[in-house]
Amino acid sequence: MIALRIKTSGLPLNEPLVVRLRSHIDHANQHEACLLSTAEGVAEFDFHGFSFALEIEDVKSIDGDVVMFLPDGRSVHRLIRANSKHNTLLVTEQCDQLCLMCSQPPKKHHFDLFDQFATAVKLAPADATIGVSGGEPLLHKTRLFNMMTECLQERSDIKFHVLTNGQHLSRADLPVLSSSLFRRVLWGVPLYSENAATHDLIVGKPGAYERLCSNLAILGQAGSSVELRTVLMRENVEKLLSLASFISKDISFASVWALMQMENIGFARKNWNKQFYDNSLDFKPISSAMDLVLGSGLEVALYNFPRCTIPSKYRNYSHQAISDWKQKFLPQCSDCTDQTKCGGFFEWYPEDHGFENICPN
Ligand code: SF4
Repeated sequence: MIALRIKTSGLPLNEPLVVRLRSHIDHANQHEACLLSTAEGVAEFDFHGFSFALEIEDVKSIDGDVVMFLPDGRSVHRLIRANSKHNTLLVTEQCDQLCLMCSQPPKKHHFDLFDQFATAVKLAPADATIGVSGGEPLLHKTRLFNMMTECLQERSDIKFHVLTNGQHLSRADLPVLSSSLFRRVLWGVPLYSENAATHDLIVGKPGAYERLCSNLAILGQAGSSVELRTVLMRENVEKLLSLASFISKDISFASVWALMQMENIGFARKNWNKQFYDNSLDFKPISSAMDLVLGSGLEVALYNFPRCTIPSKYRNYSHQAISDWKQKFLPQCSDCTDQTKCGGFFEWYPEDHGFENICPN
């Protein structure tokens, strides 16, 4: 697994600090730290006359990374990895829902790091898409929108992909949402069922479905790009066709419908045996729903599905959606000719009670 934290000797700080690590500095950037030396798995950097050490074997692997130091912290957080397409900022751990399969169960406290995140995004590599996740990011909507606006204004090449439960928008947000800057934002919004009771049960919040539908309409009115996200569970898979029908008729402004396999961590680990749907045994509910939505002209994407668990007709819809730092392959994948096209498995995928049919190509 790729480490998202690196041990450090630290810097004398009163507040969090974001710096970009460079092996060479051509022209001065006040946020850059320059490599001084490496020896025995320790890289020494200079930042404005202060030196700090990072415990790293391959210093090239962090060249250009944007990291955050915390006061008294013994490790730096790799906020943006220069060689990765999977850079996501966890802007809060607070959430107002309690989804059955939540991979990041909410916490009560919030640490406001939006200023540091803004600095980090502005230091990101060219043409980066930055994920924004939580918790529920829009619980801190004003701070979030200000941070995004500042970054989108300063960096005309970057895009955001914001995961939100869609509960916290209002018509007052229409000017921001419909602004030309926010054309570069893709909103990933979960919808688990066309049945209000089922959706509310899955997200653990009465009334969530009704609120979500109104707020999806706001995104539609703003002309926002929307990625509808449906995690497959036994709770919703049998009614997937009804959901497909609802989406194709009533949310046809969405850019894409993403069908997602569960991630066995957080609440999902506890609920795995009850909720995991093994599509390697029966893909029919998924293919029927996909056919309906595709027929209406909407795009469909499959996230977190091992490629060989998808019938060949539908494999081109699968994406390598599992972030590189938490992706793994199984021993039987080593000879598979499809591995370069396959998203593989989450690091914490339970091999003894997961997909029954994993068939190397
Ligand atoms: S066997 Fe091949 S297609 Fe199946 S999960 Fe492994 S790499 Fe992916």
